[in-house]
Amino acid sequence: RARFGDLVGMLHSGMAQGERLRQWRAIREGKARIALGARGAAFAPCPNLGLIVVDEEHEAAYKEDGSPHHDARRVAELRAEASGARLILGSATPSLEAYYRALNGGLELLELPARVLNRSLPHVEISDLRRLYQHGKPSILGEELRLALEETLARKEQAILFLNRRAYASSLLCRECGFVPMCPNCSVSLTVHKQARRLRCHHCNLQRAIPDRCPNCGSIQVRPLGIGTEKVVEAVEAAFPGCRVARLDRDVVRKAGALEEILHRLHEGDLDVLVGTQMVAKGLDFPGVTLVGVVTADTSLFIPDFRSTERTFQLITQVCGRSGRSRPGMAVIQTFQPEHPAIALGAKQDYVRFYDREIAERRDALYPPFCRLVNVVVSSEDREAAAKTAQEAADSLRRHLTRVLGPAPCAFERLKGRWRYHVLVKLDPDDDVRLARLPMELLTRRHVRVTVDVEPVSVL
Ligand SMILES: [Zn+2]
Ligand SMILES: [Zn+2]
Ligand SMILES: [Zn+2]
Repeated sequence: RARFGDLVGMLHSGMAQGERLRQWRAIREGKARIALGARGAAFAPCPNLGLIVVDEEHEAAYKEDGSPHHDARRVAELRAEASGARLILGSATPSLEAYYRALNGGLELLELPARVLNRSLPHVEISDLRRLYQHGKPSILGEELRLALEETLARKEQAILFLNRRAYASSLLCRECGFVPMCPNCSVSLTVHKQARRLRCHHCNLQRAIPDRCPNCGSIQVRPLGIGTEKVVEAVEAAFPGCRVARLDRDVVRKAGALEEILHRLHEGDLDVLVGTQMVAKGLDFPGVTLVGVVTADTSLFIPDFRSTERTFQLITQVCGRSGRSRPGMAVIQTFQPEHPAIALGAKQDYVRFYDREIAERRDALYPPFCRLVNVVVSSEDREAAAKTAQEAADSLRRHLTRVLGPAPCAFERLKGRWRYHVLVKLDPDDDVRLARLPMELLTRRHVRVTVDVEPVSVL
């Protein structure tokens, strides 16, 4: 707006309907010549489309998982083709698929020389948590991270601590009988929210009071297990009394105005340490931040999904990029897997070497871009019905396709009271997805939901 003023038309879901319509009209009438927005902007009614820019191309949020299912990147590509417009995909950590196409002629590769970005990379230290555990009591802040924090605070500079898990702890454990409270609707443990004094399910939002005694054996030895952002805040406050700490995650921003307030405080130097989930990794620019600590880099590494390595690399790269944007900065990464390429190469911001390794793995295991994935998810409150329909879907697909995996229970076997099974189809990259078509009779069964997810961003 500073540069183009009223030529900019905004489109996003947070806008009031009337304002949205006004902007939409301005775009359609050609008065607003730049349509700006999230996923939905891919459908902006520009009468004379000449250029589409998809920034942060690697973001999973471009895929809409609700109805209507679509991938805004594909929509942008199809529109560019149809109107002869130029398409630019931008990213510091491109998706493997996009970079593969750029190297193999499907897209043209444009690289920004480092001096255009005009910043130096932070000095990165990898802190080996295995060593910390061998030397006695493990702590959330290992010695490297604690020392770096101490120095940063002494210089009156700011730090961001990153952990991709909200709440206080991921579950509650009875130390006498081993009982862990689970969600009755989902196959996950209930997370501990200490401030709210609640156990919560992060999938269906079920809430329970935190019990004083084990519901199974009556013991008082019930303790939180695992770390979340709330616990990190507590650890920082305990280690550095008087330090001004705030938390930024989905639980916090649910309150209107909370996000703006925290960012404002950080910007004004009214905050020493910000603890957050991946919300703090995204494109935010804080001039006073000279230290970034990754509390546990491993949390996203062993999620059973073909993109978990790529996502971990992207997160490490992005988080480290938050440090020292105007002065020299540093990052400390705590991990049990210091040699893992996603972590070692993420710390060096070495995209090309990471790409070379990961693309070879994708080729060997036959995952995108070497195949076109279709994930058929069958769910039902009735476990038998879900399993049976999934089996029939697999049988039907096998009649004319060779690479059909499953059916198997999903990684989240039960969500919101529904049992989930999936069948994974690997088509050739250029195959028409209609090859994975299912008979109408299967799709319209009562009490069973069948979702055919073409090119899924995850298969959980
Ligand atoms: Zn929560
Ligand atoms: Zn117990
Ligand atoms: Zn649940």
